[in-house]
Amino acid sequence: MNLPAWLAAHPAPPAQKRPRSFEINFSRLRAYLECPWEYKLRFVDGRRQPFTPASALGMTIHKALEAFHREEAPDLGRLLELYERHFHHAGFDDPRLKEQWYKKGEGMLRRYWKDEEGRRTRAAYMEREFIFPLGPHTVRGMIDRVDEHPDGRFEVIDYKTGAEGEAGESSFFQDLQLRIYGLGCKEALGFDPALLTLYYVATGHRKTREYDASGEGELQALLGRAADLMAAGKLLPPDTSFCPSCVFRKTCQFSVARD
Ligand code: SF4
Repeated sequence: MNLPAWLAAHPAPPAQKRPRSFEINFSRLRAYLECPWEYKLRFVDGRRQPFTPASALGMTIHKALEAFHREEAPDLGRLLELYERHFHHAGFDDPRLKEQWYKKGEGMLRRYWKDEEGRRTRAAYMEREFIFPLGPHTVRGMIDRVDEHPDGRFEVIDYKTGAEGEAGESSFFQDLQLRIYGLGCKEALGFDPALLTLYYVATGHRKTREYDASGEGELQALLGRAADLMAAGKLLPPDTSFCPSCVFRKTCQFSVARD
């Protein structure tokens, strides 16, 4: 997706005397840019996304790691205890499937622990929320982790619990998410991020890039325009190219991937 082209193709709605304030976050923005009908189903109609084994495990791993990093000097045993305590049981059709996914998550955390033993950074923030104003609107987000390096640089980290390159993974949206988080650090948390990282918990693979402040104007324009359009109730046409990875594909009236 080309952001300048999207902005040019989606002009701002007519100015209101009293512009409506809207809270925008990455999930809303992504849905609106990918398939606006998905945005409507999730955020206007409030349709719930059913849990799947992958989403249940993702939530469990995030909660276990948050609790783990909030403790003083926890070890692998404690990490596995926290995993068991936070394990999310919905989304599994039968006990055998749940057991398979439980073991998969346990393997991820055993591997994660190896990285922890060699880590030289300080985990400065965990599940850190940011909120900042953008015109009449508000931008909100939650960052998985921020590390401070020995030289004082800050690294924004987003955990990925799925496999690299799996269906639905998009480098454009991964990058967009990290850019919003980087902007949130500057606007709301009071520090400049130096590095943006996607961290694949299952393998330990990291994709890191330097934070580029030159894209902030374009990002703010995108967030502001999308929030203006959503606040005005402007619904764009559905984009069925995203149906194969959409959680509503079995029930959505526009779906082209019901099987
Ligand atoms: S099933 Fe397709 S058309 Fe329907 S919300 Fe999902 S992506 Fe959009």
